[in-house]
Amino acid sequence: MTSGRAQLLIEIMSKNYQVVIIGGGPAGLTAGLYCTRSRLTTLLIEKGIIGGQIANAERVENYPGFPQGISGIELGRLIYEQAVKNGLEILLAEAIKSVPGQRHNLVSTSEGDFTADSIIIASGSQFRKLGVPGEDEFVGKGVSYCAICDGPLFKGKTLAVVGGGDAAITEALYLSRFASSVKVIHRRSLLRASKIFQEKAAAEPRIEFIWDSVVTQIEGDGVVKQLRLKNTRNAKISVLELAGVFVAIGAEPSSALWQGLLPLDEGGYINTDEVMETQVPGIFAAGDIRHNSARQAITAAGDGATAAISAERFLSF
Ligand code: NAP
Repeated sequence: MTSGRAQLLIEIMSKNYQVVIIGGGPAGLTAGLYCTRSRLTTLLIEKGIIGGQIANAERVENYPGFPQGISGIELGRLIYEQAVKNGLEILLAEAIKSVPGQRHNLVSTSEGDFTADSIIIASGSQFRKLGVPGEDEFVGKGVSYCAICDGPLFKGKTLAVVGGGDAAITEALYLSRFASSVKVIHRRSLLRASKIFQEKAAAEPRIEFIWDSVVTQIEGDGVVKQLRLKNTRNAKISVLELAGVFVAIGAEPSSALWQGLLPLDEGGYINTDEVMETQVPGIFAAGDIRHNSARQAITAAGDGATAAISAERFLSF
């Protein structure tokens, strides 16, 4: 977020905070807004982009209050601005270790150590990879996880999007503005994406679906040239020539820091109660990192507000 970067040079005032928030997406930023308005000294730590995954969404049409829709970057920027205006301190760093303790939690980051009376974990999730040969080799050379970042580079080319959820279909719709053809490769013959996105994709002549198929290999010569596909019904192998492939097959929780410290579900998501508290008193989780999250910007923001209110109550006793 370019305009936010300059403002991110906020001087970090302390090493000790009432609340440390890990993650700067809608959940973390909203938690920061609520904590600072409760006059809690609050530090938010973010290792990547302020706004989190929503920053990759070209247009968000289901966040209440924006009847015309809003770009994901702009939505993140607005929540950021509102939180910072209320006193949220933000550190661009990676949280690398946490040692929970009774009202004295330690959070070690790439920029130093901090103590927190309470922690709100809002570190969300990261893109899931296909895990096929060629994927890592061709990242940035035709393999991408972000249409809004890389789509305009492929004007007039044939592209593929892998996945069948909202992300895959919204990415395909965006890419269809630049590409001559967008093939959506889905492992089943039924999309998971919302009906409204399915209808838009069906009405776009540049989008075609390749059903019941998985990518087994990404091949090229310096840059991506073709995909090897396997039909999941008859095991037939085919080759698809193209210039780029966008992987949109969901996400994995960014919860490695908490393994062994907090109970996680089998997918690595953090279990909380209805007020966002984990099994460790004073440590809360909000947004996509949470078990059974609806994984929407608005539900993440709601989780963040709830976690902040719970942290405030925890600190009052
Ligand atoms: P998702 O809903 O979990 O969909 C992931 C898709 O990838 C599914 O179709 C899944 O197939 C497929 N998939 C998973 N692993 C795969 C693999 N190894 N190989 C091939 N295909 C694989 O994830 P998402 O689309 O990223 O969406 C995440 C959340 O964000 C959702 O709640 C969504 O509503 C939200 N979102 C909203 C918007 C918006 O503008 N409103 C935009 C993007 C995302 P199966 O269907 O067979 O499981």
